[in-house]
This record gives sequence, C-alpha cells and structure tokens, in this order.
Amino acid sequence: MNYVPSDEHGLLINTVRDFARGELIERDAHWDRTETSCCSELGVLYEMGLMGLRVPEEFGGFELPMPCYAAIIRELAYASPSVAVTVAVHNMVAESIRRFADDALQREILPSLTTGGNLSAFAISEPDAGSDPASAKTRAEPTPQGWRLTGSKMWVTNGLVGRWFITLARMVENGGLGRHCMFLVDANAAGLSRTPIKGKMGIRGSETAEMTFDGVVVPRSHLLAEVGDGLKVALAALDGGRIGIASQALGIGQACLDLMTDYARQREQFGRKIADFQAIQWMIADSAVELAASQGLIDHAAGLKDAGQPFTSEAAMAKLHASETANRVAYRAVQAHGGYGFCHEFRVERLYRDARVTTIYEGTSEIQRYVIARSLINSR
Ligand SMILES: Cc1cc2nc3c(=O)[nH]c(=O)nc-3n(C[C@H](O)[C@H](O)[C@H](O)COP(=O)(O)OP(=O)(O)OC[C@H]3O[C@@H](n4cnc5c(N)ncnc54)[C@H](O)[C@@H]3O)c2cc1C
Repeated sequence: MNYVPSDEHGLLINTVRDFARGELIERDAHWDRTETSCCSELGVLYEMGLMGLRVPEEFGGFELPMPCYAAIIRELAYASPSVAVTVAVHNMVAESIRRFADDALQREILPSLTTGGNLSAFAISEPDAGSDPASAKTRAEPTPQGWRLTGSKMWVTNGLVGRWFITLARMVENGGLGRHCMFLVDANAAGLSRTPIKGKMGIRGSETAEMTFDGVVVPRSHLLAEVGDGLKVALAALDGGRIGIASQALGIGQACLDLMTDYARQREQFGRKIADFQAIQWMIADSAVELAASQGLIDHAAGLKDAGQPFTSEAAMAKLHASETANRVAYRAVQAHGGYGFCHEFRVERLYRDARVTTIYEGTSEIQRYVIARSLINSR
C-alpha cells in the first residue's frame, strides 16, 4: 500500500512543495543556463530543516520516516533536480555517520550537519573505479598521527562547498592494497584539493568535483565502522541513497507528465487540441501508470527500511524503475512538445537532460539489475 503521511508530515511535504514550485523552478533554470551551483540556496534549505531530514531529533534533525523523506526529495526534484540531489546526498551521508561512527564522533559531527557550513558528500568513485568500488586505489596508511590518505576521487556531488566527506580507501598492508576502510574526512585538512567538473549534460546546478588526497591525515577516531568494513558502509549508504535517487527521478518524471499534459490541453493542430489525439493520450496514460508504479516501489522499499527489514533488492528495483521511467516520460514530454520541446525556453528540455543521470549515479541500471538478480539467485 502507498504511504499515507500523518497530518504533520503531510503539512511538511506540502510546505516543501509550495516552496519548491514557487521559488526553485526559475532559479533552477538560471543554475542550468550559467552552470552555477545551487548551493547558493543552502541557507534557506538549512532554515527549512531540509539538511537534517534524516538526522535524529536529539542532534537537531527531523528524523523523518523514510517514505516522508522520499516524498520531500520528490517535491524538490519536481522543481530542481539539482537541489534534490544536494539534499539527498547530504542526508545519506548523515545517516551513514549516524549508523557507523562511534558515539563521540556522532555527537561531534551530527549537530553541525543541520546548521550552515557543514554540507557533506560521498566520495567513493574514482577515475578507474565506478561500478566496481572495491577496486578503489586510494591508499590509507596507518601512522602515529592517524591515517594518511593518498589518491583521487571522481564525480563527488557537493564536492566543492562540502565540508565532510565519507571516503573509501584501502589500507596499505602486506606490501599492497588490502582491506577497505571508510573515513570521515574534513575538507579543511592539509593536502586535500578539489576541482570542479564542468560541462555536464544535466543537473548542472549540482556541484560535481574531482578530489585529490595528497597525504591527507585523518584522525583515528574518524574511521567509520572497523578496518575491513569500508565496502559494507558504502553499500549500506547506497541502499538508502537509491531510494533518494528513485524519488528524484520520480519528481522529474512527474514534472514532465504535468508539463506534457498542460501543453497538450492548449496546443492545437488540425483544428483540435493535441490532447484529443489518441497518440498523445497514450503517452500521458502510459507515463501516469509508470510513475504510479515507481511511487509504489519507492514506498515499499522505504517502508521495509523503516521496519528494519532487508531492502537492498527493493531499493534497487525502485531506483531502476523510477530512473528508467523518468527517462521515458521525459522523452515523451519532449515529443509531445514537438519542436518547442527541443528549446531551452521549455522546461521539458532541461528535465530531459536532468533525467539522464538518474540511471547512472548511485549505481547504473545494469548494476541495479545485477543486485536484484543476485539476490534472487542467492536466495534459491
Ligand atoms: C553527475 C554525477 C554525480 C555523481 N556523484 C557521485 C558521488 O557523489 N559520489 C560518488 O562516489 N560517485 C558519484 N558519481 C559516480 C557514479 O556513481 C558512477 O559514474 C557510476 O557508478 C558508474 O561508474 P563509471 O562512471 O565509472 O562507469 P563504469 O563503471 O565504467 O561503467 C561503464 C558501463 O559499463 C557498465 N558496467 C560496468 N560494470 C558492469 C557489470 N558488472 N555488468 C554490466 N554492466 C556493467 C555500466 O553499467 C556502464 O554502462 C556521480 C556521477 C555523475 C555522472
């Protein structure tokens, strides 16, 4: 059954919807056109509490149920997919710190994540390690001062303004690269540098950066979980993160459907509204059905997560379905707009480009299928 929010959560979702549709749509067009960061909006996002959606109340967050959180990411994405992913990645990282940092580190970091200046990021991918994060080459050497990190990370969302990075590295042991470790790295540490990645097809308001660690020293207390558990931390973060990206894709798809429907109601050809043509109606109907199915998969995965049940496969299903659907619906929305859909002035053009990355990051569609199939095959 689909998620029905409480009155309080329903009010919050509606508040975010009004804010996003009222304030973010125009700004998103600007960020896209100028390829400037949507982090200029962070002050408002912090004020609204959106940076603490998944942070426990004792640390100043909202500690929202996962389906409510997913609905908020959907509403943000409807207006600005860039803002949605900025918020989603930050909350995903906060949750990882909550789950895998020791008590002292949680108390030190988590309250700061709900206040300005402490955006967080997930630095796992490397130039040669994307779908296969286990092949990471970033080195972690134990020294008397702490862990010394050397290597580089690629495609880091929130990577420029971000203050806290959870970073996967491999311990140098037995003369080679050994066990995986996850660290919480402060962007102000000496030896850390970052370079913006420009020229993206979509979500151009979302910051993406390459990072270099040149002997960055990380305190011992900033190791998340145990030595050897780094991949476990990364994969656990991605399980929850995929519900967030599925919700981002759903918001993009829903915006495309609404724009397509509105356009079909006013555009006339052959002396009739194009909404009267069955070909256009089918695009609208198919899109509505596929988006409703995405919503169901998201709510199911989110409900399992909150219930403490396994949800890896269900999160992969939600992400696979919602991201592929967003791309199909965006394609149809451009098609239904004809030549106008091919131009910047029409929002469907931007959403079409924004949708594209949802089948790529936090695991490509091929990797989601692999996760789903492996879980079925291994359960027999
Ligand atoms: C805008 C953007 C933001 C991102 N943000 C982040 C971030 O914040 N943090 C982070 O760590 N990463 C981030 N990423 C990286 C993203 O997660 C990777 O791009 C993604 O996991 C794919 O890795 P890759 O690009 O190296 O492609 P590759 O892994 O090289 O894949 C290339 C192709 O091969 C296919 N393939 C690979 N392995 C298999 C397999 N076993 N079976 C079938 N097909 C396979 C893939 O599906 C793909 O089609 C971001 C990427 C982008 C574009």
